[in-house]
Amino acid sequence: MKIFCVGRNYAEHAKELGNALPEAPVIFMKPDTALLAPGARFEYPSFTSDLHYEIELVLRIGKTAKNISAANALSCVDAITVGIDFTARDVQAGLKSKGLPWEKAKAWDNSAIIGDWKPFNGDASEILFSLTKNGQKAQSGTTQDMIYSFETLLEHISGYFTLSPGDLVYTGTPAGVGPCLPGDTLAGFLGDEKLFELAIH
Ligand code: ZN
Repeated sequence: MKIFCVGRNYAEHAKELGNALPEAPVIFMKPDTALLAPGARFEYPSFTSDLHYEIELVLRIGKTAKNISAANALSCVDAITVGIDFTARDVQAGLKSKGLPWEKAKAWDNSAIIGDWKPFNGDASEILFSLTKNGQKAQSGTTQDMIYSFETLLEHISGYFTLSPGDLVYTGTPAGVGPCLPGDTLAGFLGDEKLFELAIH
């Protein structure tokens, strides 16, 4: 199983981190060991002092796809949820400043959180999602604000990598990323429905 992630897919988020808008989708990957088993305990990693949440819409691939066209791309998605692309922001800043790869900031064990899966009905025109921290709204987004649509992302990714059943695609985070600490509780919502709740230990 492969985990694809998209960087800088919302203009306001690119701006808040001081990044230029991308000229093409920014794609990175996490290994399958990054996925936190549903219900498993999440520990604040020892190698960071600036752990950031990034709430994202996550797509699950249902069939093998290579070089799929944007027009057909949504047919390879079988389910959707919300998840967190946890980021050690201090580690990432150090790596970015040297032009080095991001894996130590992004791809570590348990850095990928997913909520309960919902069947994907093929309509990506306006999907609302949000994250709360300790019950307060921390981040919210809509597919309408994405720079690259689901269709364009899947076309782009499948031009480089074969998409296989069970692969996940984290589609980027809207503005409002921020820190969390042991004792905090994060919850992810698709529309009004809570799909996960995660305590930071
Ligand atoms: Zn992200």
